Amino acid sequence: MDRREFIKVSSLTAAAVTVPSIFLGGCSQQPRPGTGEVTATPTVCDICFWKCAGHVYSENGIPWKIVGNKEDLHSNGRLCTRGTGGMGAYLDQDRLKTPMVREVGKNGKQTFREASWQEALDIIAKRMQQIADSHGADRMAMLSHGAGASHFKNLLKGYGSNTFTAPSYAQCRGPREVAFNLTYGEGVGSPDRTDMEHSRCIVLIGSHIGENLHNGQVQTLSRALERGVSLITVDPRYSVPASKSQHWLPIKPGTDTALLLAWMNVLIEEDLYDKAYIEQHAMGFDELAQHVKQFPPEWAYIQTGLKPALIRETAREMAKNAPATLVHPGRHTTWYGDDTQRERAIAILNALLGSWGRPGGFYMQEKVKLPKYKLPEYPKAKSNFKAAHAGKFPFATQAVSNAVIDASIGKDAHYRGWMVYGTNLPMTVPGIRNKLKQAAESLDLIVVIDTMPAEITGYADVILPECTYLERYDDLRNSGERHPSLALRMPAFEPKYDSKPGWWIAKQLGEKLGLQKFFPWKDYSEVLDWQLQQVGSSLAEMQKAGVKNFPRKTPMYMQEGQSRKFRTPSGKIELVSSQLAAKGFDALPVYTPPPTRPDDYYHLNYGRMPAHTFSRTTNNPLLFELAPENALWVNPQIARQHGIKNGETVRLQNQDGVVSNSIRVRVTERIGPDSVFMAHGFGHRSKKLQLTQGLGADDSDLMTNVLIDPIMGATGMRGNFVTFVKNSDQEHV
Ligand code: SF4
Repeated sequence: MDRREFIKVSSLTAAAVTVPSIFLGGCSQQPRPGTGEVTATPTVCDICFWKCAGHVYSENGIPWKIVGNKEDLHSNGRLCTRGTGGMGAYLDQDRLKTPMVREVGKNGKQTFREASWQEALDIIAKRMQQIADSHGADRMAMLSHGAGASHFKNLLKGYGSNTFTAPSYAQCRGPREVAFNLTYGEGVGSPDRTDMEHSRCIVLIGSHIGENLHNGQVQTLSRALERGVSLITVDPRYSVPASKSQHWLPIKPGTDTALLLAWMNVLIEEDLYDKAYIEQHAMGFDELAQHVKQFPPEWAYIQTGLKPALIRETAREMAKNAPATLVHPGRHTTWYGDDTQRERAIAILNALLGSWGRPGGFYMQEKVKLPKYKLPEYPKAKSNFKAAHAGKFPFATQAVSNAVIDASIGKDAHYRGWMVYGTNLPMTVPGIRNKLKQAAESLDLIVVIDTMPAEITGYADVILPECTYLERYDDLRNSGERHPSLALRMPAFEPKYDSKPGWWIAKQLGEKLGLQKFFPWKDYSEVLDWQLQQVGSSLAEMQKAGVKNFPRKTPMYMQEGQSRKFRTPSGKIELVSSQLAAKGFDALPVYTPPPTRPDDYYHLNYGRMPAHTFSRTTNNPLLFELAPENALWVNPQIARQHGIKNGETVRLQNQDGVVSNSIRVRVTERIGPDSVFMAHGFGHRSKKLQLTQGLGADDSDLMTNVLIDPIMGATGMRGNFVTFVKNSDQEHV
């Protein structure tokens, strides 16, 4: 018998089987104001990480709508489609409702049963204590996503662990942060410090702003387009931004670094780079110039399929508008396993254009100096995340999620317990299902804290239902930004069912573990009030306003002509990276060709759609109405070749024989004949997600060839190929 088997969360409880259409009807029949007392409660949206501030409107306590906070400069007072659908997260009848614990029946069958909070927390505290006594507290790891994780980080730090990992690092933006840090001594940060507001030329490389609705960024790009910005989009697919571009470069998948090197070649060979900026701020130019000599556009044409004249024309366009030219670093940057080097090439190209620290390029972020609530010193953890990396990934600045999972497998595994907060690992970390099963066999404890019965809950020993962001306080929003500001998330409603706020759960667990000194408050609102008082505000003020803007104290851009000390070893922008060279990596970016596409297989390309934040929102009833499933983009020529019609459903089979769920085909010229495309986040298997379960296909299941970046451990996901399996006969076509 498995020590811990994956349990379909459909067996969680017999309660609350709902008929989606009735529920949706209920949602759209929400009252409109006019007869009762209307209240507006401040919130910070948690539907994605962008953290837009808004107000939650209700009438007589009944939910009505969520709108943007007009004072919020970060979102310009507007929410995106998903943010306005945030009420669906609160109203979703599939939410986790009570704590659940795994048990083994007399027949050896594992099931979940409902438990009281006391019992569930007692089980967790007891097993955490056993792990600390037998192996050391440092053997508990936390895997998380979202601002609410901070309460549990406080708990684990107090307990003696220091391994915190978020898939947003190794599965998303880690390579660009490492690459920009190596080059400029600073990362791009979140929200991205891109100054599209003032750009005259914007270059998007595999980045689909507009399909990803990062609110403020989409607004600035829209405004830039209105004032006639020159947009250059590099994408094998005719994406939404490609359709708005002066230049669309339909590149062969995986050859972007070749294009970047050729662009550098043109800027240097034609003397178009910003000489004064490079002389004043950068080091390693001569080596760079020598290096890129070997990569003219004619060479890049063979790699990328892009004509040399187009490469030259676009390089000149960038130079003409520099330094207000932004070569956007992207956000999801984990593609082919050489991602830090590709992002280094983007960072260097921006340096040649003189855009770092200049209007229209990258601005300098500033946040509010908000004191931390005074807590006792945490005990020193016996080991940190580097134990999971086993000497690899020397430039990783935080734990790499896939490495933590690997270090949790086997009887001698380093990690003995996991706390998983707000992240659905099976649909987030590529090619993970077998490893999750093995880790579940090995670990002594898996706690999942979430609002929804996503697939990860099926691996838990104990499931704790957190209330949604509309029912709780969290930390103040204080992001590095163009304008420093604070924003408050507070409860607009009482927690539904038997769910609880994260701060309450962490405090209760802390008390059971004898760690109450790290939770010296009764209610988290006390912490927020104290912090706000330190910066001349108060909780009472913020409960009314929701947002408080502060004046900038530092310049937004570098001072022209003045020298600047960058936080790199040389104090300069490092075109040549001595740090990479010292660890045996290429000091200048080189091009690595992508894996070869097998005959009759197609690059599996994936991305976002505006209505959803991946698998987090596909069951949200309001957003489900907008987009219930994903579609597979297929080029007409390929569709003809395989006898596939528009609207038909097919399954996909990858190069390793893994077969997906059914997905509906969209035959379109907007994708070339070497790739297919789908939005990520669909194909749920959890039957408890009654709306979304079984709809669309899950791309992460098909990502069995994971290309690991040796520099910082990110998981390149684009080395996978698929072909079609017809649903009619399940035969390979
Ligand atoms: Fe919410 Fe949209 Fe802002 Fe994300 S971008 S925080 S989903 S409103």
